[in-house]
Amino acid sequence: NRRHVIAGNWKMFKTVKEAEDYAVKFLEDVKNVTDLDIILCAPFTALYALKNELEESVVHLGAQNMSWADQGAYTGEISAQMLLEAACTYVILGHSERREMFGETDEAIAKKVRKALEAGLTPILCVGENLSVREAGKAVAQVQGQVAKALEGISPEDLSRVVVAYEPIWAIGTGKTASSQDAQEMCAAIRFTLARFMGTASEKVPILYGGSVKADNIAELLSESDVDGALVGGASLDPQGFAKLIHNAA
Ligand code: 13P
Repeated sequence: NRRHVIAGNWKMFKTVKEAEDYAVKFLEDVKNVTDLDIILCAPFTALYALKNELEESVVHLGAQNMSWADQGAYTGEISAQMLLEAACTYVILGHSERREMFGETDEAIAKKVRKALEAGLTPILCVGENLSVREAGKAVAQVQGQVAKALEGISPEDLSRVVVAYEPIWAIGTGKTASSQDAQEMCAAIRFTLARFMGTASEKVPILYGGSVKADNIAELLSESDVDGALVGGASLDPQGFAKLIHNAA
């Protein structure tokens, strides 16, 4: 009975022109989808153009990263206010690519989650283990630890506006999807950790799965009780393909 969420993460793809062309085609195919939430997380430079294309549509706009600072001498950073101005309502935080390649720590991610909530943005907090952690049987403990560190000290009321995305690193861009049972097990474990911080309100938090989600595996993933949607990378890059995935999810 939780509303499903399908979010596309374009990563570092698409110019302004490409984003605009995408939006026109995508909206044509999904404009009547109202039984789940659709989010496009685009590069910063495409956000403002997408705002104009997507205004008053069923598609919500998100960014892929954000600063924990309000403003100031932070060269290369983007603030929550800047994202709000570009009509973002969501922001991906703590994606594994940022943790692994750009040195983002649990502490920095926790500050970003707090800042996003304070500003009125919905954070999509990403967590997930790599292959060696999974093979060592430590995946659940590590992922629960990532969730706890990112959300520690946030009020239950603010936590009710969080979205969590479980993205096992070994499944990202590899074509190797987690089995729906593995996704279910981890999403349930994440909800258990959320309950420590917010009690039964954890039942309302959308928990997404990400990692090689495609039009032909989305329905099976969503059949699991604690998997409430997907964060989609590669399969969100083609407007018709992503629309098909969304129709298979709806
Ligand atoms: P892929 O769907 O390309 O595996 O990427 C998943 C992801 O990292 C979404 O944030």
